[in-house]
Amino acid sequence: MPAYAWTCLACGQSNAAAAESCGQCACSATPTSREINTARQRFTDRGGALQGDALMAARPDLTGGDVASILFHLFIGLFGISLNRRRGSNDATAAEHARRGIA
Ligand SMILES: [Zn+2]
Repeated sequence: MPAYAWTCLACGQSNAAAAESCGQCACSATPTSREINTARQRFTDRGGALQGDALMAARPDLTGGDVASILFHLFIGLFGISLNRRRGSNDATAAEHARRGIA
């Protein structure tokens, strides 16, 4: 058992130093990643609400929507750079024409 108060990695509940397992979800004080996932799944299936870091950890890293949004903004950004370059070259052409006296 830990010699300090600890926070459950599965559900985020604070537990006393003497506790071998979480008082809320029964996850071990020193779980493997599989034990964390199992305890978290069992806990949320019973309607338990995750807290703190456990809530953030349970969130999927990237959803399909996130990826689509990133690609969309990347595309818009590259398109904007491309337009600026084109406009820049047109300005240079217009300046060259003006210098040469071409309308
Ligand atoms: Zn817990």
